[in-house]
Amino acid sequence: MTNTPLSILRDYYGYDAFRGQQEDVINHVVKGGNAFVLMPTGAGKSLCYQIPALCRKGVAVVVSPLIALMQDQINALDQMNIKSAAINSTMTFEEVSAVRRQVREGTIDLLYVAPERLMMPDFLSFLDKCNIALFAIDEAHCVSEWGHDFRPDYAALSMLAERFPNVPRVALTATADAQTRADIVHRLALDDGRSFIGGFDRPNINYSIALRNSPRNQVLRFLKDKHPEDCGIIYCLSRKNVEEMAAWLCEQGIEALPYHAGLSSEVRAQNQQAFLQGERVIMVATIAFGMGIDKPDVRFVVHMNTPKNIEAYYQETGRAGRDGLPSNALMLYGLEDAAQQRQWIEASTAPQAQKHIQHQKLGALFGLCETAKCRRQVLLNYFDDHCEPCGNCDTCEQPPETFDASIPAQKAISCVYRTGERFGIAYLVDVLLGTENDRITQFGHDQLPTFGVGQDLTKPEWQNVFRQLIASNLLCLNPEGQGGFMITRAGRKFLNEKPALPMRHYVKPLRNKRKAGSG
Ligand code: ADP
Ligand code: ZN
Repeated sequence: MTNTPLSILRDYYGYDAFRGQQEDVINHVVKGGNAFVLMPTGAGKSLCYQIPALCRKGVAVVVSPLIALMQDQINALDQMNIKSAAINSTMTFEEVSAVRRQVREGTIDLLYVAPERLMMPDFLSFLDKCNIALFAIDEAHCVSEWGHDFRPDYAALSMLAERFPNVPRVALTATADAQTRADIVHRLALDDGRSFIGGFDRPNINYSIALRNSPRNQVLRFLKDKHPEDCGIIYCLSRKNVEEMAAWLCEQGIEALPYHAGLSSEVRAQNQQAFLQGERVIMVATIAFGMGIDKPDVRFVVHMNTPKNIEAYYQETGRAGRDGLPSNALMLYGLEDAAQQRQWIEASTAPQAQKHIQHQKLGALFGLCETAKCRRQVLLNYFDDHCEPCGNCDTCEQPPETFDASIPAQKAISCVYRTGERFGIAYLVDVLLGTENDRITQFGHDQLPTFGVGQDLTKPEWQNVFRQLIASNLLCLNPEGQGGFMITRAGRKFLNEKPALPMRHYVKPLRNKRKAGSG
């Protein structure tokens, strides 16, 4: 085909210009390079393999986990006169044979398959005889046990590199932190390829995160000051919290509807409809609400409690301001949230290794809550994207009071080091404070030079320091220890260089006399 990427974009898709890094990815893959693409949902990842599929000779094989997703793609491609087909478990033998024949004859440009199908020996030997333009691995985070949706079928894809060494591979995902990303690159042997990461910023969303000390009043003030007439979503942790919060807002004269999995499907459908059509409707909901909701003018998203990790937070707040107009994301947090989330993680049936990952991700979320840096920078860094201090978040607008925590941080990190990188925060704080207890004496840690060097700070102040160290990724959970922490590469660098380290002051939480509802 002599078509250029731009002419394909215009002639088939009807768009004028590429967005973000699309063109770079496409040019790289057209030339036969391997690529890892991390961009948020809606950024336009599909084009990053579809256009190379049209530019290169042969059929592009697209690995996709869900039959419904495949069918959506194929329908969309049909509309544009791009020839594609799927082979999946719902098809008869005859249907599969017909598609195979078309592939052999070269009349199909994109072939969608599920990973388990791709790995069948019979299918692989069929592919051996085909001319393959590229492999696209969609939802690539499924190959990694570090990601949040590991699928064993995906793990087998690591053999593509050996079996088809000359066919370029493009892995695409909307969600992968640094660890997951490294794992994907490793498993799919993309080390010699390029990573394209970007487009995560949602500049119109103002992020603000506050300690929860008087939740109802905090929310009421937020609504009155910033959103007296707008639509928005308020996320609560439980069905009971949802009911109480919605009822209370109504008492205050604010139209609010509840949404959670415990309501009948009629009520849910009715409330969702009211929200989609209403001009000033607030949906008070559990996280059961939101998937697939595409209302452009959601002006705010409030979290009454911390979500379970930064990925979830970013996805949930991302429902605000899809129309690009100024919007707000407010999160209220308390340390009880951490305790609650940790309890849930422990109570789940997930394997121990998964639980560790979840604990670590929760730690990063608390890091975001307690950072003194620009929230957007922390968020984007988490996804390996970057920005300057944004001027559109609470820490940019009102920089929190900080102190130079370089010395306490050095003490804390050396304490982790000298105790063998396998203890939790409570134990480490006891060592720093010089608390005599059986466990410490048993391990002989009362003999360490760090024992008792931290008496200038209180216990909660030390806990604060540790949380922020975890948050800024100087410490992380030791995957081999039972909830113990180890020093990251950045942590070692910090110990060597001992730079200044501004940290947020420990703020004593206000105790609320009146039990304030939705917490
Ligand atoms: P993702 O897979 O990253 O979630 P899609 O590939 O489904 O995103 O693209 C999201 C939407 O953006 C689609 O409707 C797509 O047609 C549109 N789109 C993609 N690239 C462009 C572009 N360069 N210009 C305009 N619209 C685009
Ligand atoms: Zn900022």
